[in-house]
Amino acid sequence: MEIEVAVIGAGPVGMAAAAFLHRAGVAVRVFEANPDRVWQSRATTIHPRTLEIFDSLPDERGSLAARMVAEGNPVPATHFAALPNRLSYAGLDTSFPFVLLLPQPDTERLLAGHLAEQGVGIEHGWKLADLTQDEQGVTIVSETGDTRRARYVVGADGAHSATRHALGVAFPGNPASTMGFLADVRLERPPAQPHNWDYQRGSYSALPLPGGIYRVFGHEPGDTGLTPEEAARRQAQIPDEAELRETLKRLADDDLGITEVLWASRTGDTTRHAEQYRTGRVFLAGDAAHVHLPAGGQGLNVGVQDAANLAWKLAAEVHGRAPRRIIDGPQSYDAERRPIAARLAANTLAQAALMVTFTPGGKALRDLMSDLIGRDGDTADELRGWLSGLDVSYAEDGSLAGRRVPNLPLTDGRTLHRALRPDRLTLVAFGSTTVPEAAVRSTRDWHGLAAVLVRPDGYAAEVWVPDEKITNDWMEH
Ligand SMILES: Cc1cc2nc3c(=O)[nH]c(=O)nc-3n(C[C@H](O)[C@H](O)[C@H](O)COP(=O)(O)OP(=O)(O)OC[C@H]3O[C@@H](n4cnc5c(N)ncnc54)[C@H](O)[C@@H]3O)c2cc1C
Repeated sequence: MEIEVAVIGAGPVGMAAAAFLHRAGVAVRVFEANPDRVWQSRATTIHPRTLEIFDSLPDERGSLAARMVAEGNPVPATHFAALPNRLSYAGLDTSFPFVLLLPQPDTERLLAGHLAEQGVGIEHGWKLADLTQDEQGVTIVSETGDTRRARYVVGADGAHSATRHALGVAFPGNPASTMGFLADVRLERPPAQPHNWDYQRGSYSALPLPGGIYRVFGHEPGDTGLTPEEAARRQAQIPDEAELRETLKRLADDDLGITEVLWASRTGDTTRHAEQYRTGRVFLAGDAAHVHLPAGGQGLNVGVQDAANLAWKLAAEVHGRAPRRIIDGPQSYDAERRPIAARLAANTLAQAALMVTFTPGGKALRDLMSDLIGRDGDTADELRGWLSGLDVSYAEDGSLAGRRVPNLPLTDGRTLHRALRPDRLTLVAFGSTTVPEAAVRSTRDWHGLAAVLVRPDGYAAEVWVPDEKITNDWMEH
């Protein structure tokens, strides 16, 4: 069978891209360097918008999101820069008003299971070494010299992306200057507060994962202001149990009663994003396109949103019915997602500054930010909207087109998000009643409209007010 899209990398982003492409009717195959799945805990946080996106992948339990929620630990609030005042998700206009704590291996296992159920193949032990492209397609070459042909390629092969290297796409940004510790552990004495910060000693956090495990992470003052060489040296030295105990004793006067270390790593603030998301027939997504400090649990989430944004556009292109605007126009993958990576970089760098500025001024800044968040006003709304993913928008000039459409109730008893189709735009007409005024906050903005044309990824393509003629010029070539 002809491969229409080859996805390089079976991490969460590659598998999500494959799932969305398959659902849109594309013949897709995934190529993964590792012979087996690798257990690396890494991301633990799944935000509401990511769950909404996974809810569009149906399976026997209802949806992939339903499976994730059944296995994960839903908590009602998230943190920004490990500040004491947290951002509540409880009032958010979504079916998933919480942050889901689910270790990355579980997310990957569920995604892999979903692909297997759908009959999407993953070739393990196939490591991309090079690629070339022409007018008809792309030839991918493995490390062992095996060649395959696909019409398009999605490079989701992580921070050191061979796809990005083969394309020669620049990856500008900053090298790491801080290197903290991070581990998944069992604790006998978890701290009273999840986040603890002292400008003389440093910071430590302990977040509860499913199964009685805690994710502990933090920095000491000596972990900051590093040269790139020092940062690289430290990154290569993974903390063992004895070092974690000593570090926690210095930070908390107690090793928190560690009984088991399941996984340990280092976290740096390297921040880079690709100069180009599309080169001919080849796309970059996830960590292949952007890396940053894992603060606020964003990398996996933003990567999955990359995949969701790309999949329906690429499917339309594969099927020969994509309008120019989504190929290389204002709604193209590159035009919409590259600015998001710039925001991601800014957001995580700001969090890094708040987390590791171990000075009295740093403390004052943290207190100020935490106080602003605690007031639950505009600052909290802004940060909550970004971190949850719900307010991420492709709209220009404050218009509704380009914004996420809430999960509106439909007259047939369904709700909008589950009614969306991966291979077409959905016209939602509100008839004479227009959008019902619901109690939820974001629905207010949609009140008074006559109709909205919704993209497969849940964003408004176009909106109409009453008495305005509904035309379908969005899909014109
Ligand atoms: C310590 C830590 C904590 C984190 N916490 C969070 C969090 O809480 N929330 C969050 O959203 N994000 C978090 N992240 C970030 C998150 O882990 C990444 O953003 C996410 O894994 C990116 O997914 P990906 O699929 O793009 O890349 P990866 O997960 O890196 O997957 C890439 C895949 O490509 C394969 N591959 C590589 N090279 C090749 C090749 N040449 N050929 C074929 N296959 C190849 C790899 O083997 C791998 O399977 C964290 C990261 C770290 C390091």
